[in-house]
Amino acid sequence: MTADLRLFSLAGRTALVTGASRGIGRAIALGLAAAGADLLLAGRPASHRDTADAVAALGRDCRLVDVDLADPLAARDAAAAVARDTTVDVLVNNAGIIDRDEVLSVAPQDWARVLDVNLSSLFFLSQQLAAPMAARGHGKVVNVASLLSFQGGVRVAAYTASKHAVAGLTRAMANELAPHGVQVNAIAPGYIATDNTRALRDDPDRCRAITERIPAGRWGTPEDLVGTAVFLAAPASDYVNGHVLVVDGGWMAR
Ligand code: NAP
Repeated sequence: MTADLRLFSLAGRTALVTGASRGIGRAIALGLAAAGADLLLAGRPASHRDTADAVAALGRDCRLVDVDLADPLAARDAAAAVARDTTVDVLVNNAGIIDRDEVLSVAPQDWARVLDVNLSSLFFLSQQLAAPMAARGHGKVVNVASLLSFQGGVRVAAYTASKHAVAGLTRAMANELAPHGVQVNAIAPGYIATDNTRALRDDPDRCRAITERIPAGRWGTPEDLVGTAVFLAAPASDYVNGHVLVVDGGWMAR
């Protein structure tokens, strides 16, 4: 028997991806487009033009949504405006920032900024876009969590707090939205070579220690997340609810 690949098709679907200018979000946006989705890219328009061109080159529609996710109420308003004129079938809450500082030195404004971008904007975007999904009886929310949804990390207290919260929120949202046909899940990437982890790769000792612990023997690439993102956005995952799917080359199994 061969698998019915329509389970993984996003033809006729529209997906909104946050933070798709580079790194994991860009790879996910292009992966969803390759699977047939039209795209809305939410973030700073100037940084998203190249991804928008790449989506268009795949033959999909692409629109930019101008929003600064450091302002959760602006994120809520932007999502509400999108929901008024567009049917969004898939929301990928990918945008995220990290602040590397010791627990005893974290400044209030840095703490707040990380929580605003990584958690509060994710929540209010989801609230606005999941409401019409629930009314229609189908939809997908895919949050980007982290290994620091499970572990404490070092010098990343605000980030760890935000990503633990993203995992909890994924389950809380899934519980309330599953009866309405909306699946809410998360991807927890391992160590992926992007700007977010450049400081770790620039430190030879830290980089070696991390690589040695990864059973796959290498850091991940943004493209390593694409299959999981398509799965969680597509009909193949219609009975998967509240799951945080680790894509880490085996780090957590160690
Ligand atoms: P990245 O390369 O640093 O990209 C971050 C993205 O977020 C960019 O598109 C950036 O847009 C956007 N962004 C940041 N602040 C924003 C704001 N205030 N408003 C709108 N957009 C904003 O990061 P990445 O490594 O791809 O990470 C993507 C997600 O994966 C994040 O949630 C991160 O926590 C998570 N993650 C990453 C790793 C990893 O190893 N890399 C591991 C676990 C989880 P601009 O280009 O305009 O700044």
